[in-house]
Amino acid sequence: MIVLVVNAGSSSLKYQLVDTVSEVVWATGLVERIGEQESTVTHRTRIRGGAHSTLVESKSLAAIADHSEAFHAVTAQFAGTGEVSEVGELAGVGHRAVQGADQFSEPTVVTAEVIDVIRELIPLAPLHNPATVAGLESAMAEFPDVPHVAVFDTAFHSTIPAAAYTYAIDQSVAREHKVRRYGFHGTSHKYVTAKAAEVLGKPVDAVDLVTLHLGNGASACAVRGGRSVETSMGLTPLEGLVMGTRSGDIDPALVFHLMSAAGMSPAEVDTMLNKRSGLIGLCGQNDLREVHRLAAQGDADAELALAVYVHRIRKYLGAYLAVLGRADAIVFTAGVGENDPEIRRRVIAGLEMIGVAIDTQRNADVRGSSVPVDLSFRGAPIRVLVVPTNEELEIARQTASAVAAG
Ligand code: ADP
Repeated sequence: MIVLVVNAGSSSLKYQLVDTVSEVVWATGLVERIGEQESTVTHRTRIRGGAHSTLVESKSLAAIADHSEAFHAVTAQFAGTGEVSEVGELAGVGHRAVQGADQFSEPTVVTAEVIDVIRELIPLAPLHNPATVAGLESAMAEFPDVPHVAVFDTAFHSTIPAAAYTYAIDQSVAREHKVRRYGFHGTSHKYVTAKAAEVLGKPVDAVDLVTLHLGNGASACAVRGGRSVETSMGLTPLEGLVMGTRSGDIDPALVFHLMSAAGMSPAEVDTMLNKRSGLIGLCGQNDLREVHRLAAQGDADAELALAVYVHRIRKYLGAYLAVLGRADAIVFTAGVGENDPEIRRRVIAGLEMIGVAIDTQRNADVRGSSVPVDLSFRGAPIRVLVVPTNEELEIARQTASAVAAG
């Protein structure tokens, strides 16, 4: 089944054409700077020729005014390279959606009513849901004859119990404004949970895990019996771990303090916490490769940034092991989790007393592996796995099953 996976941001559109049976990616692409004069379309298409076929890149410049023009550009790329006709008819379009709140716990075939509900949830996700709506409407106009399925970042976390998702605030306010923990990155936490179960040789509903999605955005998840029971992102993706540009946990009173003491407006504090905090706020760089480079040169801010970053992950790891009571494995994934042995080493260091110990040489060697790797010593009670995530494939699979279910 060929599925087009799309991820619409406010000024970008990422897409991938995936065969959900063979798991071959036929094309990937990115439209950037939508709404500007010089938008770019980067399209990579697979040159056929067996398992070792490669993706060949082409780049073009154009003025792309909105998401609807972006989808015309994508179709033009497909027409030019012939993917859809050659590899089979499109079975569906899978859309990454961020905030489904308590409305969507499953991949959902999109109708006008579904779009209305996603629109109603805009106050909960003002940065993300408008782009999801624009992406859905434009894609449905561009590909009117195939089903469109929305796959929500929040869906995997719909199993979190009330004790973990409830904020201890005035509940009349919380209920009226739908204020609770929702959690994000669910598609990734779900995908690596299933992969980890395979590696551990257990049915997915029998695995207990702490999964650490460490990308530019980052979140931890406690998984009991294959289901999310706690996660570090909250009402919005700002809560929890230290991220590339987001602070993660802070004392909420800091917001009022900055408003009164520094004269900042709510919007300015919001921008600071989401865009100018985390690693970039601590040392001027959001990419961990750069942070390591500065730290190696003796930059004290970069060293502190690494220490704060690691400390927060360890704090959540300890908390989630206590929430679970037992765990089969700790799973590292996403850009940092898959590529950064130093961060993994520091997160795991000194945890032998709770049954966590890794082979440091194997850890040092694992960067950018395309398959899961077990870093633990044989017989360690809690295993440590690196599992490459694949959110696009997970969206494609969920789209295919939603389409098949009718
Ligand atoms: P997102 O999808 O959230 O944008 P990714 O999962 O692609 O992010 O992760 C991007 C981050 O991963 C980068 O900002 C960088 O910090 C980190 N990263 C990527 N490659 C490496 C590497 N080789 N070593 C250390 N960190 C890396």
